[in-house]
Amino acid sequence: MSKRLFNFCAGPAALPEAVLQQAQAELLDWQGKGLSVMEMSHRSDEFVSVAEAAEQDLRDLLAIPDNYKVLFLQGGASQQFAQIPLNFLPEDGVADYIDTGIWSAKAIEEAERYGRVNVAASAKGYDYFAIPGQNDWRLSKDAAYVHYTPNETIGGLEFGWIPEVGDVPLIADMSSTILSRPLDVSRYGMIYAGAQKNIGPSGLVVVIVREDLLGQARSLCPTMLDYSVAAKNASMYNTPPTFGWYLAGLIFKWLKQQGGLEAMQRINDAKQRTLYGAIDRSELYSNPINTSDRSWMNVPFRLADDRLDKSFLAGAEERGLLNLKGHRSVGGMRASIYNAVSQQAVDALVAYMAEFEQKQG
Ligand SMILES: *Cc1c(COP(=O)(O)O)cnc(C)c1O
Repeated sequence: MSKRLFNFCAGPAALPEAVLQQAQAELLDWQGKGLSVMEMSHRSDEFVSVAEAAEQDLRDLLAIPDNYKVLFLQGGASQQFAQIPLNFLPEDGVADYIDTGIWSAKAIEEAERYGRVNVAASAKGYDYFAIPGQNDWRLSKDAAYVHYTPNETIGGLEFGWIPEVGDVPLIADMSSTILSRPLDVSRYGMIYAGAQKNIGPSGLVVVIVREDLLGQARSLCPTMLDYSVAAKNASMYNTPPTFGWYLAGLIFKWLKQQGGLEAMQRINDAKQRTLYGAIDRSELYSNPINTSDRSWMNVPFRLADDRLDKSFLAGAEERGLLNLKGHRSVGGMRASIYNAVSQQAVDALVAYMAEFEQKQG
């Protein structure tokens, strides 16, 4: 028997064991068809049924309105950083971006290659420990769109609110927060999420885009990057990442079995309370983020003396608590507690943290 340890990796991240088991059971022979999903034509009835079921389950989970397309694309979230301006930013236009950390900064840097970017607000003034309130934002009058990152995976900063941008399409990089709780999709022009945090394997990116925004891509936009081409071809203009799409579908079914996103909200809320509570009560650990802007999914924390980092990590690994080392740009620790990371895993982490602190005296 293989053993499964507690994996707190930021991405590619833990997947539900039940989903991996189902994929394993179906790997050689999917539903009696004598072949694996990986070996099927993407145009076959079998794969099309897998693809359509995945889309429908995602639509059910997020209550996606009918006037939104759901696309299953490639290139991860990072490719979207270019794809968004190529599709929505006219050559003489301006796009508003909110800077809250490393991922939003990457989106900004890439968009600047294609047009005028107005950084309408930045968390820099708070050392990226808090999200600037909307009263301090300087939105353009005529922005093509407003882009923001609801959850900064590295810094551990998360919006608890949806920006108010009037008729301007709001575009959100939800890579590390999608499906962690219910979401009002109708407030957005477009939502995108790299799969490897809460959806499935890396390489796949899910895009949810309002139909009326399609069809205005720049003439030099590569065909493969034009959302309207993808939409017209049901994400099969070329061969899509079929196995990732299939696995995403299994995750969506698993989420439905857990009770959908209201249930995930309850579970995730309990997990984050457990972990932040333990950090806040301790003398050894700290998290610098403004309490109302703390991420539910990515919890960075520091030890009072970073010379203890190595032994903390070694002890964690001995107990089967994996991938707690913080991002290289931030240091310290980070526990990513996505949907597939259970309360049991968080309890085990918190117990270890207390034990380690006690040992320091
Ligand atoms: C992980 C992540 C990305 C990058 O995803 P890739 O699939 O590696 O391109 C972008 N944005 C956010 C918020 C992320 O968490």
